Amino acid sequence: MRKKLILVILAFPFGAAAAVPPLDDATRQLTRDIYKQLVEINTTESAGNMTTTAEAMAARLRDAGFPAADVQVLVPEPRHGNLVARLRGTGQKKPMLLLAHLDVVEAKREDWSVDPFTLLEKDGYFYGRGSGDDKAMAAIWIATLIRFKQEHFVPNRDLIVALTSDEETGVYNGVQWLLQNHRDVVDSAFALNEGGGGAMRKGHYLYNGVGASEKVYVSFRLTTRNKGGHSSVPVKLNAIYELADGLTKLAAYQFPMKLNEVTRGYFRNLANIEGGTAGSDMRAIADRDDAASAARLSETPSYNARMRTTCVATRLEGGHADNALPQMASALVNCRVLPGEDPESVRTTLVSVLNDPGIEVTWVDRARPSAASPLMHEVMQPIEEITQQFWPGVPVMPLMATGASDGLYLRNGGIPTYGVSGIFTDIDDSRSHGRDERIGVQQFFEGAQFLYTLVKRLAS
Ligand SMILES: [Zn+2]
Repeated sequence: MRKKLILVILAFPFGAAAAVPPLDDATRQLTRDIYKQLVEINTTESAGNMTTTAEAMAARLRDAGFPAADVQVLVPEPRHGNLVARLRGTGQKKPMLLLAHLDVVEAKREDWSVDPFTLLEKDGYFYGRGSGDDKAMAAIWIATLIRFKQEHFVPNRDLIVALTSDEETGVYNGVQWLLQNHRDVVDSAFALNEGGGGAMRKGHYLYNGVGASEKVYVSFRLTTRNKGGHSSVPVKLNAIYELADGLTKLAAYQFPMKLNEVTRGYFRNLANIEGGTAGSDMRAIADRDDAASAARLSETPSYNARMRTTCVATRLEGGHADNALPQMASALVNCRVLPGEDPESVRTTLVSVLNDPGIEVTWVDRARPSAASPLMHEVMQPIEEITQQFWPGVPVMPLMATGASDGLYLRNGGIPTYGVSGIFTDIDDSRSHGRDERIGVQQFFEGAQFLYTLVKRLAS
């Protein structure tokens, strides 16, 4: 790992050479004030209130001159409101959606070294629950709208900002609810969302990630049944052994490698950063699906997870007494399915891998698949250009998330969604959902400039 680190630093010594245009003092203050207000209103599921937060942001927009009709707080349930605001453009192009979620993961004061609901600036970082996930982007969207208003900027398309509820937990998922009940207010050509962002290591910028797709979460239950009997007289057919046999076959099975546009781009870019054998293997799979290279890379779990659908046993139960033959054994198998792949075909594959009619394979939860967003030139080109302008030499990296986000509702609703922020975080210091969540002060303001510039470019 040390060796790899040195290579990275030699390859991309750009941490200090950034050319991000600085924010003027007033804009810096405005952005910071909005951010502080967002972090300091608790929006956890247990004690928070998303509606209060949405109203606070709505008031700021109205104060900035937005007509009340263009600033709506839409509320499916009293605490779970969503803000949808619109800066009207010439209508030359279809609107663009700027999305962030208001809710945050629970944070206990006693677990943290600082108060999670006070925005604290310390040692070059902003601390607070949601400081990264996802109130930085929420603040930047509001500040960007206000900046455009102050400049009398008229975009060539409407700009819609939606700050929504229940991305993390809760049953009132704002994006899903808006699409179902108020499609007209969020309908757009494409959306920018969380799920991307820059990666750095010890202050050195590695790449600017653009999330364009995500894997699909699906679980199956594998069950074997037997008439059982006294354990003093064992019989050949045993529910636990039968299940174990099946699981052993599953453990040995690997779904075929299937790269898509996004993961090919990811491996091509990562090849330049990693170098060495891993780098040439990445190039070989991206360019020609090379089998030997794929086999070597599959040894690394984080690469493997981006190369194929995976299924893994995560829970096990069986038997009913210490002195009885088991009548039932079952395992939970959690799969992460590549976007665009039919989850039912994964079940069929499991059945044929297990190759035992005695093992039932049933769905545990309904899959919510979402196809990858196409890497639209209209969106990727400006991201490339602004990244090169701000952080010369730092590549733009398309990403496929191995987890799931609100992007899936939008993609399924026909709105291509890109995770992009221009906020760089240390890949070895990920704190979202954890204690002492923080992001760099410099990186926050750079992200504000990046998104402001990007949105303007996309709407000019
Ligand atoms: Zn988030």
